Parts: sequence; structure tokens; C-alpha cells
Amino acid sequence: MLEGDMMVTDSINDFFDSMLCLPDLRLVKSGLKTTNGQDDYLLFVNAGGGSIHAKDCQINFKGDSFFEGGEIIQTSEIIVDGGDYSFLYQSARYGNFCYKFSDLSCGEVLLDLHFAEIVYTNGPKEMRVFDVFVQDEKILSDFDVYAIVGANKPLQLLDVRVFVPDNGVVVVSFEGRSGTPMVSGISLRKAPKLPVISQPIICNNCASVQEISSIQNRGQNAKFLAKYEKKIQELTAQCKAMSDECHEAWMSQKTTNDQLEELKMEFNNKLFQTENLELTVELQMVKLRNVTQMYEHSQKKWITAMVGLDEKVKVMKQEHLQLCLEAHDWADAAPDFNKMIIAVQTLVVQCNDLKSKYAEEMTKRKNLFNLLQEIKGNIRVFCRCRPLNRREISSGYATVVDFEAAKDGELGLFTGGPTKKIFKFDRVYTMNDDQSDVYADASPLVISVLDGYNVCIFAYGQTGTGKTFTMEGTEQERGVNYRTLEELFKIAGGRKEMCDYNISVSVLEVYNEQIRDLLAISPSSKKLEIKQALEGFHHVPGIVEAKVENIEEVWNVLKVGRNARAVGSTSLNEFSSRSHCMLCIMVRAMNLVTGESTQSKLWLVDLAGSERLTKTDAQGDRLKEAQNINRSLSALGDVISALASKSSHVPYRNSKLTHLLQDSLGGDAKALMFVQISASENDLSETLSSLNFASRVRGINLGPSRKQVDTSELMKLKMTIDKLRQECKTKDVSSRKLEDSIQSLESKVRAKEHMCRTLQEKNKELEAQVESKRELQFSSERQNMQLSEKVKELEHKLKEQEHSENLQQKIKELDSKVKEHEFSELITQQKVQDLSMKLRESHQFECLLEQKVKDLEEKLRKEELKSACMERIANSAEKKFLSKDESNGEIDPRVLRSSNSINQPMEVPISILLKAEKTLQNAKIERKSEDVEGNMAVGEKKVLISCETNRKRKIDQTKTLGRLSRTSKAAATQRFPKVGTTKSNSRQQEQRKIIR
Ligand code: ADP
Ligand code: MG
Repeated sequence: MLEGDMMVTDSINDFFDSMLCLPDLRLVKSGLKTTNGQDDYLLFVNAGGGSIHAKDCQINFKGDSFFEGGEIIQTSEIIVDGGDYSFLYQSARYGNFCYKFSDLSCGEVLLDLHFAEIVYTNGPKEMRVFDVFVQDEKILSDFDVYAIVGANKPLQLLDVRVFVPDNGVVVVSFEGRSGTPMVSGISLRKAPKLPVISQPIICNNCASVQEISSIQNRGQNAKFLAKYEKKIQELTAQCKAMSDECHEAWMSQKTTNDQLEELKMEFNNKLFQTENLELTVELQMVKLRNVTQMYEHSQKKWITAMVGLDEKVKVMKQEHLQLCLEAHDWADAAPDFNKMIIAVQTLVVQCNDLKSKYAEEMTKRKNLFNLLQEIKGNIRVFCRCRPLNRREISSGYATVVDFEAAKDGELGLFTGGPTKKIFKFDRVYTMNDDQSDVYADASPLVISVLDGYNVCIFAYGQTGTGKTFTMEGTEQERGVNYRTLEELFKIAGGRKEMCDYNISVSVLEVYNEQIRDLLAISPSSKKLEIKQALEGFHHVPGIVEAKVENIEEVWNVLKVGRNARAVGSTSLNEFSSRSHCMLCIMVRAMNLVTGESTQSKLWLVDLAGSERLTKTDAQGDRLKEAQNINRSLSALGDVISALASKSSHVPYRNSKLTHLLQDSLGGDAKALMFVQISASENDLSETLSSLNFASRVRGINLGPSRKQVDTSELMKLKMTIDKLRQECKTKDVSSRKLEDSIQSLESKVRAKEHMCRTLQEKNKELEAQVESKRELQFSSERQNMQLSEKVKELEHKLKEQEHSENLQQKIKELDSKVKEHEFSELITQQKVQDLSMKLRESHQFECLLEQKVKDLEEKLRKEELKSACMERIANSAEKKFLSKDESNGEIDPRVLRSSNSINQPMEVPISILLKAEKTLQNAKIERKSEDVEGNMAVGEKKVLISCETNRKRKIDQTKTLGRLSRTSKAAATQRFPKVGTTKSNSRQQEQRKIIR
């Protein structure tokens, strides 16, 4: 093998170095070259290829044999820098295989391996990584040919010293780490004998350089080695101490860091707790403030309430005292009171007697009055004549009416003949009689209405004769309607104590035989019809009945009816009513004494004009109106005639007018007719017609013509009437007196009862007040209790507040503790920095030690060189030395000592070295294992794994050294320190990395 080849063993970097497991292996990055027969090949196998033996070829290549397992691969690619036998690299065995050589002679051989990547020509690295073992000893670890030389390039591993055991078998096995192993050629060479290195020794006595044998040289070296080993041991011990210190520092730093972390955690927890506490404290503070405010507010309120209550209690106590006194007084006055009650009771009994008597008298009076009215006639006719108006006077019309016997109820009418025609009525008013005179005779009917009789007052006559004037009148001269109602309310008011009256008013109009409600707000399309509800009671369903309480309301109602009345214009009168205006006053009476209730009606009718049709120029609608009016008036006459003749059939239903007045005409009902006439000669015929109608009415009912025949009877009747009148008057007086006395008694009784009631009520009120005061007292006591409870609660809350203040104090203390912790943390950091400083110093010291070791190695080499020189000198001077002094006795012991030392050849120094190395390694491994236990980071773990692999290699290396020591002890001893130191240095560097 040529040394000129590019050697990579010396200049190999850490990468390649890590692949080689033995120290003296060589990697050559070129192909096999001819060595002029220097190399004595025992065997050369062309792996994956056939046997080649050319004439000019000095090497006899055997075809692929001795293998077990695997496949063949070959390439035609040119092997770059393939040397003299590039074909060797064009074939290879790959896969799971090994080579087993047998029948080799016992001793040492050199093994060479040839590789070339011919499969993965484009890489990448680590596609094929494998280990190679020789005799179960790893010589190549994680071997990657492509990574070293690339594809299609040769790579030789040379000088693998192999000891062939007695069985002559050498096994080379390949184990893939990633991908399959591959080999191109394997050769076995004879191993040259190792040269014996001798050292020159300077004699201690003569200082001359003495030649000693290699054995002696070895002894000398052993001494030096022992020295160095000692030193190394010391240094190792120092290093160990340092590393221990470092470890301790690191551990303390770790523990400090842990403590720091714990403290941080604790600090964070405390901070969190503090924040929570602050929050709760704030919330509590807010609540407390609110509670305090509420408490203050309620306190003020309760104080004011208490003050008020105290005052009230005082006042109530005073009142209570007064009431007690009054109660005593009342209790004292109780007998008088009882007497009074008895008196009152007797009075009440008397009063009731008087009431019953009064009621009896009232009924008697009523009957008598009714009798009187009946005597007067149920239908009475009063004649009223309108004076000549301006127009008539200016026209020069003469008066055709004579009032000479008006007081006797006689009216004379000049009909153009020589004698005047006499008409007799119940009353004849002259033209000078005013409205009050007219009403004076009509007013007794009002009493009849209030007594429960139906009454009908109507005005009949030609248009413009004063019907409306008599019935309604003007605002200055009120008519019968207004005055009747006025009287009605007056009497009803007077009888208030005895009777309860309910008065309502309806205003109707009969126009063209149709009933119209003049009080209706909107005219309804529904036709109003007359219905008979009860026996003898007719009414118009749906008609407005305006309830009236006083005369003002009545006047308003009348105005509404008047405005709504249909008014037509004729040639006779500017305002001539063409309809019957009917005012119906409903009186519902309730006798408070007897409990009797009555319902009566008062009809006040302003009839339409009774003038004949021929007198008007009415046509069309006006004609129809006139016809209807005349028809209804003649129906009225017919009804009255039927009543007079006591006919079984009274034709009420011939007209709406008579139908409406049905229950007020005939029977117990009382009727009054004002026959209105004109004094003018121009209206003579109509006047005559009206007077005839009226006479017919009056004559039929009273039958005076028949009575007038027997004057004695009439006189008797008049006498009885006078008597009855007198009786009535006396009865009235007595009844009034009785009423007065009853009223006074009743008022007295009422006053007494009222007093009694008020006193009882006062008593009750006082009792209730006393009760309420007691309750108030109870409630105030309860409130006091509640307030005291609230005060207790607030005190409790105040205590809580104090507790929260204590908590705040604790928080402060914790803060100070945290600060102390921070301070201690700073101190520890400082310590760590100091320790790191010390560590650096120790590193520096280590470097110094390394330097010293190197120096010592340098010295050792020098010594070796010297010993070599000395050996040469010794060889040359051996003959002289022997001849000069053969009996030199001092050498023997030295030789003997050397031989003695030979008897223990290299074992001691090697064992010491190994022990030192092992102790160092063990210490470091222990620490690393401790480190691993200490939750190391992943990166740190990786570093540790690499350390572990290194450690394995180192262990393997020691094994190899151990084995090699049997074959090449000297070489091993020479190389070991160097390797050991370099390895230990690298390990120390790694150890530093981990610590960092
Ligand atoms: P009628 O209703 O019958 O058509 P009125 O009542 O309208 O008649 O009267 C017509 C006119 O005669 C009115 O101006 C009225 O003032 C007047 N008049 C009627 N009677 C009298 C009387 N007794 N005294 C004075 N004037 C009267
Ligand atoms: Mg009129």
C-alpha cells in the first residue's frame, strides 16, 4: 500500500472518526494500487464478482466466496479514481450477509475492505449506513460510503489487525443501520511484526547514555507512565472534584431554580389570592357602604318616626285620659240616657199613631177632594177670549162677545141677530183676566195629579185665539204649563217627608196623524206607536222621558220641544200651528208612610187650530194637514160624546190624539178644556163653532141642563159642597197641625237618635283609637327590636370589615414576603453567577491541565525519541560496554528489576489508566443519569444519547484495547493515552454543553 495515497485517518474530522472504532485503522479515498509485491496477500475476494488472474496482475482475485447470505450487484459505470483494479469496485455483495474465512493459520493478519456506492449514485447521504464487525468486534460504526466519497468512487479500509484463533476462522459480518450493507472486496494480508521501540537510558552514576533492551526500555516507559498516570490520576481527581463541584453548583442552581419556580408559583397564587381578596374587599366595602348608608338613612327615619311616635303616644295618652273621663261621664249619664230612650220610644209610638191617623185623614181628604172634583165635573170647560189685536182694531172690526154674566159662567155672543146667544161654561174669563187668574182655577187639578189621578188640560180654538198663549205663555206671562209644573214641584217639595215623587216630562207632537217625539235628539225613522202596558195605562215605547228635578229643567225641556215643533204658515196667521202639541208629565209617587205607590199622568195639550177648511186657501200638504186636524178634533168630540152617553164603546182609536189621551179621558181622570175664542166680528163663525163644540163637551159631562131643572137638588148639592168644603178646610187645618206636631216630634226623635248614634260612634272610635294606639305601641316595640337586630348586624358587618382590614394587613405581609423572596431570588441568581464564574475558572483550570497533559505528552515523545537515540547509541556501544565491564554488578539488579517489571508487563499502568478512565466515565454517567431524572429538555436528551453512544464506543474501545493488548501491547500503550485524553476532552466538552 502506498503512503502517497490521500490519507484521511490523521486529518479525519469528527465525522469520520466517529465511524472508525479502532485507533489504527486507515480510510483511503482511492482505489487499490499495485505495490510491487510488498503486500503479501493471503486472500483477496472480489465480492459480487468473479475470479481474475491476469499475467501482469500481481494479485490473485478470487471469485466471490466465503460469504453467507446477501445478493450480488454489479455496475458498468466507470469508477472514478478506481486505482489499478477499478473492476474490483464495479461489483459488490449487498443485503444481509457475512464472510467466514477458515483454515487460516493462527496469528495476526491484516484485513482490508473495499467499498464503492454503485447503487445510490445520486445519494443522498444516510441511504446506506451499516456497522462492520470482525470476530464480533465492531470496527466500523454507522459507516456511510456515500457520505465520505460519494457514488462510483472507491473507499478502502486498511490495516484492520485481526487475531486468527486456533480454529483458523475469521468472521467479517455486516449489519445494516439504515439500508443494506454493501462490500466490493475483502482481502487478508500477513501482518508485519511490530517494531520493538527501545529508549536510551542515561546512567545515574556516570551520566553516560546506556543502551538497554526493549524490555528495559519498556520498564523505563512504565516508570514515566506511572508518573504520568499519577499526575493524570491527580488531574482526574481534580477534574472529578471540579465536576462534582460543578454538579453540586448545577444541582444547587437547579434546586434554586425549582425553589424559584415554586416561589414564583406561590407568588402568582398569592397574587391571585391577593387580587381576589382585593376584589372581595372592594365588594365588601361597597356593600358595607351601602349598608352603612341604608343604616344611617333608616336610623334617621326611625329616629324621626320614634320621636313622632313618642309625641303621638303622648297625645294619645292625653286623648285616652280625656276619653276615659268622657266615658265615665257617659257611664254616669247612662240612667238619664235610658230614660231619654224610653221617652223617645214613647214618642215614636205616639208618632206612629199620629202617622196612621194622618194617613187616614189624608185618604179621607183625598176622597173628599176627589168627590169635590167629581162634583165639579170630570170634564170642565173654561172659556177664554182673546182681545182684538192691533190689526183688527185698525181694520175697525167690532167685538161680538159680551161678558156681562161672565162671573156666572155665561158668555154672550152677538151673532148678528137682535138677541145675543148665551153660552154657559164652568168659567168665563174676560179679556182683562190675566194668566194667573186663568191658572187659579186650574191649579186644584195639580193636587189631583199628585194624589194619583190622571189629568188632561187642553186648549181648543181657532188659530190665533190664544191657545199657545194660554198653555205656554211668554217668559213674562207664564202659561198653564209652566205654572202647573211649578205648583207640582212646590207641592211635591212640601210633601217630601211623606211622599217621594219622581217626575219626568215628554213632549210630543201629533202631526198628520203621526206621533213625533220633540225631545228626541235625532229624528228616528221608526214610527212611534201607542201601546197599552197595564190596565188603563197607555204609553209610547221609545219616547224620551226627561227626568226633571226642578222648574228650570222643565223650562229648558219646554223650550227644546217648542223649537222642535212643526210650524206651518197659512194665510190666516203668520205662525199657525198645524199640529197638536202635547206635553205629558209622568208622576210616580211613593207614599213613605203607607208604602203605597201611584203613577199618574198630566197631559197639557195645545191643540191645532180648529178653523174650518173653507176659510183657508190651503191646498196639497196644507189641505192634508187641515183635514187631519179637523178629523182628530172631531174624534175628540166623538170620544167625549161617547163618554157622556156612557156608551159601551168609546172610539179612542179614531185618532192619535184621542188614543194618546185615552187613559186621561173618562173614568177617574179629570179633564179641563180651555175654549179659546176671538172677540172680532171677523172670526164670528169660527167663534160660534168653537163655542158650540165647547158647549157640547161641557153639557154632556155635567148634564147641568138636566140638573138645572131641579133647583132644590142643586141647592142641596151646593149645601153639601159647602159643608164638605168647610170640613175639608178644618180637616186640612187639623191635618197640618198634626203634621207639624209629628214633624217636630220626628225631628226631636231624630236629634236624639242622632245624638245617641254619634255618642256610640264616638265611643267606638275611641275604642278603635285605643286599639290602634296599642297596636302602634306594639309595632313600635317590634320596630325597636328590628332596629336593635339591624344594629347588631351592622356591628357584625363592622367586625367583618375589621377582618377584611386584617386580611389587607396579611396581604401586605405577603407582599413583603414576596419581595423578600424576590430579594433571595436575586441573591441566588448572584450565587449562580458566582458559581458560573467558578465553573468558568474551573474550565480554565481544566484547559490548563489539558495543556499540561499535552506538554507532558510532548515530553514523553521527546523522551521516546531520546530513548530511540539511546538505543542506537547503546547498540553501537554494546560491544564496548561488554568488553569494558563484564562484571558490573549494578546492572543485574536493574535488569532484574526490569525483568520483574516485565513479569507484570503493562498491566498496572493500563489497569490504572483504565480505572481512571472508568472512574471518570462512571462519575459522569452517574451525573448524566441524575440529569436525565431531573426532567431534562428534549435537546439535552439528544445530547445525552450522543454521549451514551460515545460512551459505548469508548467502552468498545477499551475492550478492543484489552484484546489488542494481547497482540500489540506496546502499540496500544503508546496510542491509548493520546486517544484517552482526546476522548475525555471531547466528553468534557459535551459535559459542559449539557451543563450550559
Ligand atoms: P193660537 O195658538 O191659538 O193660534 P196664539 O196663542 O198664538 O193663538 O195667539 C195669537 C196672538 O194673540 C198672540 O200674539 C197672543 O199674544 C195674542 N193673544 C192671545 N190671547 C191673548 C190674551 N188673552 N191677551 C192678550 N193677547 C192675547
Ligand atoms: Mg198656537
